[in-house]
Amino acid sequence: MRILLVEDEPDLGEAIKRILTQKAYIVDWVQDGIEAWDYLDNQWTQYTLVIFDWLLPGLSGIELCQKLRRQGSLIPILILTAKDTEADKIMGLDAGADDYLVKPFGMGELLARLRALQRRSPQLQPQKLQVGNFILDYQLYTFSYQKSLIKPLTISLTNKEFQLLDYFLHHPNQIVNRDQLLGQLWELGSEPESNVVAAQIRLLRRKLSEIGCDHFIETVYGLGYRLIIDNN
Ligand code: CA
Repeated sequence: MRILLVEDEPDLGEAIKRILTQKAYIVDWVQDGIEAWDYLDNQWTQYTLVIFDWLLPGLSGIELCQKLRRQGSLIPILILTAKDTEADKIMGLDAGADDYLVKPFGMGELLARLRALQRRSPQLQPQKLQVGNFILDYQLYTFSYQKSLIKPLTISLTNKEFQLLDYFLHHPNQIVNRDQLLGQLWELGSEPESNVVAAQIRLLRRKLSEIGCDHFIETVYGLGYRLIIDNN
């Protein structure tokens, strides 16, 4: 799940990004409203939800809300702001925000608000994803392999392993190339090492080998990787 965070206070932005990353979200953090719009108004990045500070250089959080809603976007929007009069809240919600968090706030409350937003959009946050004999659990961060009628074999995943499997399970039996994985699963502008995808796939296969599933991720030489779905 990918979140766009737009917050121009460096300390707060960094703190939010850190806590969300710990919760296995992929977070793109920008500090300017116009740059934020570049991240939103393209076909390459798909966000699960967005967090906008109200007062920002370039475009305000309210203007970003209005632009998204004018485009017909239904993405959940959380507004962060020090403004806490009733008139401000009405203005924020009328602009298309789904929720509103007044600064200063605790990170526990922020996470709870995000969970609530996801619950209201259940298509964004299923509890589990089952494809063939594979099950990814979004609550427990586990991956299970159910072979015939025996009890499923389950492993716990790190954030990146979880994100990779989530992506593969949404693209079963398809060739997924390195650039797709970099674009979807690594933060924009983080300029990861050129072999980071291959290294993560290696780690993922090692993890999957614990339950005898490593051969389901196939390397398609020169093209990328493919998750083979086992229906037996
Ligand atoms: Ca601000």
